[in-house]
Amino acid sequence: MIVCNGIKKSYSIGGETVAILNGVTLTIHPGEFIAIIGPSGSGKSTLMNIMGLLDTVSDGELVINGVNPAHLSDNELARLRATTIGFVFQQFNLLPRTSALDNVALPANYSNHVDRPQGRAQTLLNTVGLSHRLTHTPAQLSGGQQQRVAIARAMMNNPSIIFADEPTGNLDSGSQADIMGIFNHLNSQGKTVILITHDAEVAAMAHRVVTLRDGEILSDITHTPRSVDRPIELESPTNVSIYTVVMRRMGADFRQALRSILSHGLRSFLSMLGILIGVASLITMLGLGAGAKQDIEKRLAGLGSNLLIVSTGTSRQGAVAMDPGLSTRLDVMDSALLKKDIHGIAEASPVVSGKVRVRYRNKNTSTNLIGALPQYEFIRAMTPTQGQFFSQSDHRSRRRVALIGLTLAKNIFGDPTTGAINDNPVGKQICIDRTIFTVIGLLPEKGSTGFRDNDDVVVVPLSTAMNRVLGKTFVDSIEIEMQSREDLDTKQVEINEWIRKRHRISDKDDDAIRIRNMADIQEAMAQTSQTMSILLAAIAVISLVVGGIGVMNIMLVTVTERTREIGLRKALGATPGAILTQFLIESICISVSGGILGIGIGVTITQIFSQTAGWLVVLTPSALLGAFGFSMASGICFGFWPAKTASGLNPIESLRHE
Ligand code: ADP
Ligand code: MG
Repeated sequence: MIVCNGIKKSYSIGGETVAILNGVTLTIHPGEFIAIIGPSGSGKSTLMNIMGLLDTVSDGELVINGVNPAHLSDNELARLRATTIGFVFQQFNLLPRTSALDNVALPANYSNHVDRPQGRAQTLLNTVGLSHRLTHTPAQLSGGQQQRVAIARAMMNNPSIIFADEPTGNLDSGSQADIMGIFNHLNSQGKTVILITHDAEVAAMAHRVVTLRDGEILSDITHTPRSVDRPIELESPTNVSIYTVVMRRMGADFRQALRSILSHGLRSFLSMLGILIGVASLITMLGLGAGAKQDIEKRLAGLGSNLLIVSTGTSRQGAVAMDPGLSTRLDVMDSALLKKDIHGIAEASPVVSGKVRVRYRNKNTSTNLIGALPQYEFIRAMTPTQGQFFSQSDHRSRRRVALIGLTLAKNIFGDPTTGAINDNPVGKQICIDRTIFTVIGLLPEKGSTGFRDNDDVVVVPLSTAMNRVLGKTFVDSIEIEMQSREDLDTKQVEINEWIRKRHRISDKDDDAIRIRNMADIQEAMAQTSQTMSILLAAIAVISLVVGGIGVMNIMLVTVTERTREIGLRKALGATPGAILTQFLIESICISVSGGILGIGIGVTITQIFSQTAGWLVVLTPSALLGAFGFSMASGICFGFWPAKTASGLNPIESLRHE
C-alpha cells in the first residue's frame, strides 16, 4: 500500500523556488491498476519518482507498506527498491551491447530473492513474447521489443509494485496495445500497476484514473472497482544466500568490465600503457638485477673466501695528505717474510699491475698486466685451460712468458667477425709494450665483477713485470691465501701490525695499510646492488603511479559516460557498495590487464637479453607475483576515487543525465 499525504516538491532554479507538486494526497491499494494522467509538465514523473523512492519530498509524508522512506538509510532504500519496486521507463534504459537475457537478469544482482536468474529471465522474456530474441542486444531490437525487455526486467525481482512512466509514449499503436495487454496480465496476477501517461485512451485501460494538473489532483475516478475479495496470488519469494548474490554480481561486473574494456579497445590499451611500461621495466630490472647479483656472487665465491689483499693507502699526517712519494711502499720481501712470520698463511704473492698495450701481428689492444709469483695460480684459482702457468725458474730468470685471459685472447687471436679463436695461442709470440713475450697458457674464464672484465688480462712473472715492462721497484699489493676462514679478522690485525712494525708506521696513521678480505668486497658489492635495487624500485613505483593516474583518468571518464547506467542500476536496487565494487572491478581489470601484458613483455625482454647478450637472468615467482600485485594494488588505489564518486551519485539526477 502506498500512502501519499500532502506531498509537496519544489525546485530552486536560479534562486527562485518553483513548486512542482502542491500537496498530493493519494492512497494506492495493493492490486490496483491505476493511471496517472495529466498534461506534460504537470508533475506526473516527479510524483512517480517520489513514490518509487528515487526522489525525496520537500514536504508531506510518504508511506510504503507501512514504512516511511525518509527514515531509511541508503542501503535500506536500495533494498526496498530491489525487492518491492519495478520500474519501466519511457526511454527503456537498457544496457547497450548487452543481450536481452542479461538485461532482464540484471536486477537479480541486487536481490537475494532470485534463485536462477538466467532461467527466470528466459521465462519472463517468454511471457512478454520475446523467446526468439534472447541474445539480441538493444540495438538489434525494435522500440516495442525493447520496451517488452524493460517490462520483463521490471518483473525480475518479483516486485509487488510496478511503475511505468509513459511506457507507450514512443510506440506505434500496435505495440501500444501489446504493452497494455502485458500490464493488464501482470495486474491480474496481483501486481499493483501504476501507469503514467498523457494519453486519455491509454489511461482508459486502467481501472482507476487520477488526473493531475499543476501539481494538484484534479480528479480521481474508479471505473472498475477493485474486487477486494479476489485473492492476490503473489509468487512466494525464494531466498538465496548473500554469498551467492555477491558472487553472481561480481561475475556479472567482471563480464561487464571486460565488455567495456574490449568495446573501447584503443582507449583501454592507452590507459593501461603506463601500468604496462611500469610492470615491464620492473620485471626486466628485477630479472637482470638479480641475475647480475647472482653472477657477481658466484664469481667472488670462485675467488676463494680465504683471500686477503694487502695494499697501501695514502699516508696522512693529521688531516693533510702527504706526497705519494712519502707513503709506505710494500716490497717483495714483505711477502716472503710475512709468510714465514705469520702462522696460517697458505700462499702469498706480491702483485704489480699496470695498463699495457699488447700487439699480435696487425692486432693491437690495451689491457691489464699483472705480475705475480707462480703461487698466484693457486691463490686466484688460475690453472690454465691450455698450456701451463709459469714456474719459479721463469720468475727467477725474468723470462718473457705470458698467460692471457679469454677476452684478450679473443681480441688479438680471434676472428674479428665471429670472435672465435682459430689458432692455438700457446706458443705464439706477442708484443707487450715493445717487448716480445711467448704465450704459454690460456687463463680460465673469470667473468666480470661490476664494470671490470677479469678476463681482459695478461699475467707474467713478477720479476719480468717489474724489471722489463712496468719498471717498478715496489709492489702494488700482496695477495695472501689463508689456510682457513677462521680468525680472518684477528689474522688481519696481526698482519697489519707486522707491516706497521716493519715499515715503522705510526699507529695514528690509520689509512697507511689497507687489508681487504672477500667478505668486505662482497659486502661492498651487496651494498651497491642494494642501492641499485632501491633506485630501480623507485623508478618502478613512479611509473606505476603515473600508470595509475592514467587508469584513474579513464575511470573518471567512464563514470561520467555511464552516469545514466549508474542511475538505472540504483533504480533497480543497487546499493552504493555494489556500485563501488562494480567500478573497482573495472579499474582492477584495466590495471591487471596492463600488468599481465607488462609481465609478458618484461619476460620477453629479459629472455632477449639472456639469449643474445648471454646475461644471467633470474626471474623468481615472487618477482612476477609482486609485479602482478603491484598492478592490482594500483588499480584499487587509483580506481577508488572514481568508484566512490559513482557510488555516491543521486539516482534520479543520474537518470536525467544527458
Ligand atoms: P510530467 O508531468 O511531464 O512528467 P515532470 O514531473 O517531469 O512533468 O516535471 C514537472 C515540472 O518540474 C516541469 O516543469 C519540469 O520543468 C520541472 N522539473 C522536473 N525536474 C526538475 C529538476 N530536476 N529541476 C528543476 N525543475 C524540474
Ligand atoms: Mg514525465
